[in-house]
Amino acid sequence: GERNPGQPEFLQAVAEVVDSVWPFIEQHPRYAEQGLLDRLVEPERVVMFRVSWVDDHGRVRVNRGYRIQHSMAIGPYKGGIRFHPSVNLSVLKFLAFEQTFKNALTTLPLGGGKGGADFDPKGKSPAEVMRFCQALVSELFRHVGADTDVPAGDIGVGGREVGYMTGMYKKLANRADAVFTGKGLSFGGSLMRPEATGYGTVYFAQEMLGTRGRGLEGLRVSVSGSGNVAQYAIEKAMALGARVVTASDSGGTVVDPEGFTPEKLALLMEVKNQRYGRISEYAERTGVRYEAGKRPWHVPVDVALPCATQNELDARDAAQLVANGVLCVAEGANMPCTLEAAHAFEAAQVLYAPGKASNAGGVATSGLEMSQNALRLSWPREEVDARLLQIMQGIHAACLRHGRRADGTVSYLDGANIAGFVQVADAMLAQGVT
Ligand code: NDP
Repeated sequence: GERNPGQPEFLQAVAEVVDSVWPFIEQHPRYAEQGLLDRLVEPERVVMFRVSWVDDHGRVRVNRGYRIQHSMAIGPYKGGIRFHPSVNLSVLKFLAFEQTFKNALTTLPLGGGKGGADFDPKGKSPAEVMRFCQALVSELFRHVGADTDVPAGDIGVGGREVGYMTGMYKKLANRADAVFTGKGLSFGGSLMRPEATGYGTVYFAQEMLGTRGRGLEGLRVSVSGSGNVAQYAIEKAMALGARVVTASDSGGTVVDPEGFTPEKLALLMEVKNQRYGRISEYAERTGVRYEAGKRPWHVPVDVALPCATQNELDARDAAQLVANGVLCVAEGANMPCTLEAAHAFEAAQVLYAPGKASNAGGVATSGLEMSQNALRLSWPREEVDARLLQIMQGIHAACLRHGRRADGTVSYLDGANIAGFVQVADAMLAQGVT
């Protein structure tokens, strides 16, 4: 706390991991050596920089840009870029810390990082978004590279923004490095990358339900958010026979007892993927109920998939979901459940998966994009999807291996934290004190 004043999200993420790994370290004292934990909670490098750009009215605007290079122990720094007014050092340090363990869980050779800016893309013209991306990369380019640091998208950064950033990187670096993932298909992107996080989250939920002899077929599912992760979580849950009854954005929630259909999802995508549309507009066009200012968690469901942002599901929401008989909660977003909410789910024997396990499909597929770029070829959709499913099943198995309690039940929270920690810690111990 004293070392990181004013960084509540970072301290929250660290506390969650330390709670899980501390008893494990006591049982395995080699992980208490080399100042391992002290080194792990300190990013290897933090870059903060000015991003100045000119808006459509000729006014100079100044934002703050960041890149947190948390750990290179396993491979090049890897993690998304976020554009949102709430971005600050604490949020990005928490995300980079989490990313390090998540990337280790994928078993691919990826280190951990995260970056972004306190830029609000809402209401900005396409030309302004492009100039902002170019201004950001005019500094970022000197810190990244295919074997150094490979950014990707996140909140507010999708295919369009990754395209602009890649273009400016090539111009400044004079290199066609595979330096971003989430690229367009015409310049090195991977099939299935847009779908990967949402699909992966649902694959993980399916695996968890399987441990209790269930599947998604016929279950009621609530999803929060309506961005990249939420959209493809809805699509895959529907495809596996679930009824998805909610979606949301920062303005409110839609509640649809009949459930999403492919047609409704197509309309949601049309509304949300252009001009930062509001989900209230989707509600107006479909006649589905809209609850302004509300979150989805009061709606009774079997499975909840929080896919919007950090700390969007608190202890009260968790109590409500438990009272309504929820079976399974899989995080599509990063740290959407507060620590109290996560503990409430575990205490009630709800199958609860932390994001570093359940949403790792996105970065895993980014890793597959890097592999394809290195091979200078591209794999068919079925091949990428099969590898994604296999990776999610592997993470699920690792959680079971490391998360089994004395009474035979499983803590996916402990399992994911310990499995990720062991990978990173083994790599760090072997490479000495650096
Ligand atoms: P998008 O920008 O595509 O969508 C974000 C969604 O969350 C939007 O519906 C947005 O609503 C909502 N949202 C964002 N911030 C807030 C907030 N402060 N309060 C309420 N709602 C909010 O982002 P992604 O779908 O890519 O990311 C969603 C989450 O998933 C994030 O936590 C991200 O870190 C995580 N994630 C993403 C991965 C990926 O591959 N994209 C990989 C792994 C994790 P509105 O439109 O109103 O802003």
